[in-house]
Amino acid sequence: DIPAIGSPTRTQAILNQYNLHASKRFGQNFLTDLSVLQDIVQGAEIGPEDTVIEIGPGIGSLTEQLAKVAARVVAYEIDKKLIPILAETLASYDNIQVINQDILKTDFGIYAGTKSLKIVANLPYYITTPILFYLLNSDLNFRSITVMMQKEVAARLQAGVGSKEYGELSLAIQYKMRVHIIQQVPRTAFLPSPNVDSAVVSLTPKADFQPFEYEKNLFSIIKAGFAHRRKSLVNNLLYRFGRSDENRAKIERSIIATGLDLNVRGERLTLGNYEQLVENLHQNDT
Ligand code: SAM
Repeated sequence: DIPAIGSPTRTQAILNQYNLHASKRFGQNFLTDLSVLQDIVQGAEIGPEDTVIEIGPGIGSLTEQLAKVAARVVAYEIDKKLIPILAETLASYDNIQVINQDILKTDFGIYAGTKSLKIVANLPYYITTPILFYLLNSDLNFRSITVMMQKEVAARLQAGVGSKEYGELSLAIQYKMRVHIIQQVPRTAFLPSPNVDSAVVSLTPKADFQPFEYEKNLFSIIKAGFAHRRKSLVNNLLYRFGRSDENRAKIERSIIATGLDLNVRGERLTLGNYEQLVENLHQNDT
């Protein structure tokens, strides 16, 4: 019996056999903790009805665990030197397809008719947020995204009003998604060890999601609200709109109409507050 790809001995053997050096440029840190790999698969609630899109299979450790329970795994790997290695490590699974492609340039049209689609990855950390936004803004009809990322980024995704991690990223993600941190993972679970700790996060589309009428404005106001964290919301919005008496009056009226204090800071507003503020700003325009 060959040990699982994600076991420390097998991973080391594969690296030796192919004289493979983890590429920093592609954010390669291979998971070598089988219980963490299994926790990810369980946390993602993968079952026999699921098609899984995996981002960055590496040498196939997570891919293998996914293939054991999913109907099908499609894994996108940017690094072409890993493709022949994956062909060998995953040879005994007939439900895996590896595609040599940058996930950020992938057209997901082929998944249009797929019933139960889930996304799972031990992400390349240097592009964590670009990947999340690429997926969220795509037309992929996924049930969940379950991904490993840097612990600090996970904290920002989950943060609410009053925490120091709360910011633009929290609101951009929480606008559409429910965020749940499944578990923390120490850096020692990877080979090579990154210099940060990690966390597995699950994102599920909000069942009651309704696009906000002034969506673009909303995110531009949120961006402005957090631009200078020590400054009041009024001042940050004046930077955004331009300092004039007219703008100040409009901003102050809108903040008061939202039920907020005039010296409130942007970091004190919930997503609901921001939505109301944008509606009020809009009304004060017309
Ligand atoms: N899944 C493996 C594991 O858990 O051991 C490897 C995870 S490693 C942190 C990230 C993987 O993503 C690497 O294999 C890397 O080559 C790949 N990768 C980096 N950028 C990518 C991109 N833009 N598109 C697809 N894969 C990418």
